[in-house]
Amino acid sequence: MKIDLPPESRIFVAGHAGLVGSAVVRRLERAGFSNIQTATRHQLDLRDQSEVNHWFKANRPEYVFLVAGTVGGILANSTRSAEFIYDNLMIHGTVVDASHRYQVRKLLYLGSSCIYPRQATQPITEDQLLTGPLEPTNEWYAIAKIAGIKLCQAYRRQYGCDFVSAMPTNLYGPGDNFDLTSGHVLPALMRKFHDARESGATAVEIWGTGSPMREFLHVDDLADACLFLMERYSHDSHINVGTGVDLSIRELAEKVRDLVYPNAELAFDSSKPDGTPRKVLDVTRLKDLGWQPSIGLDDGLASTYEWFVDQHRQAGHLRGVELATSS
Ligand code: GDP
Repeated sequence: MKIDLPPESRIFVAGHAGLVGSAVVRRLERAGFSNIQTATRHQLDLRDQSEVNHWFKANRPEYVFLVAGTVGGILANSTRSAEFIYDNLMIHGTVVDASHRYQVRKLLYLGSSCIYPRQATQPITEDQLLTGPLEPTNEWYAIAKIAGIKLCQAYRRQYGCDFVSAMPTNLYGPGDNFDLTSGHVLPALMRKFHDARESGATAVEIWGTGSPMREFLHVDDLADACLFLMERYSHDSHINVGTGVDLSIRELAEKVRDLVYPNAELAFDSSKPDGTPRKVLDVTRLKDLGWQPSIGLDDGLASTYEWFVDQHRQAGHLRGVELATSS
């Protein structure tokens, strides 16, 4: 059943400055919501229950998008494992509990596709959660994300709260982290090809063998799905959000090369980890509800690269660089 959020609803986007949160804010603004609530890290430490309670008491959000967290790519996951598990466990716990305590009407929590077992049957259906061991390169993050799903379920079962969970696939888009050590593969490759083109280097290093398969969803599509699910999804079980289509890291690297620096060679560094071999989501449930993505990977890559170049130019790091393609 669809609920209609009145345009003046108080909607808290926890994590509004991040890749996902900023896209959710853009989507809500576009839909005409006039009372979008946000708090910076300085204003509110989401890991601190008393601060979060105080904030909820003062601001009384009616709807909550819980999209905050400490996130990063394959390297950051293994070098900052304590932050990944602690920050995320705490943030999920404080926001879910305060949402119950201050009678939030509905909360949408975002997890991640890394919650599923490393050897999950592909494409991955929602019911494969907790059916096998996790991928070791991101198990800290995955455990915290699974705890978030269980929090929502427990508060739903014990207190009748309308808290739901969505599991997005790998995301990308404007606002992504282009840092080479902490970022995910897609922005990292964009930056590597960009820098190689700038410096005139002939080869670009790609971590691992290039054979792992990954699925990529544009963050504006995810934000659209978040609003859709807030309005139409109310179940104990989490729901996958993705495209249902994946490609190899080699194929991704070739696409980014063709877009950014067509003359570059790919140099695979197999001393770096591959991570999970494949994690494409089964999105049948979401599709059956009537939602599907609208931004194809080629268009999404082109617009994200434009955004990256623009940011660099504004930051004064770039001197008159033009896009490698006209699209
Ligand atoms: P994952 O999806 O959790 O494994 O996280 P990532 O997005 O960080 O990595 C996805 C895949 O891309 C892994 O197989 C990485 O080894 C590979 N990869 C290739 N080059 C890079 C790179 O420059 N940065 C990152 N983060 N991953 C890379």
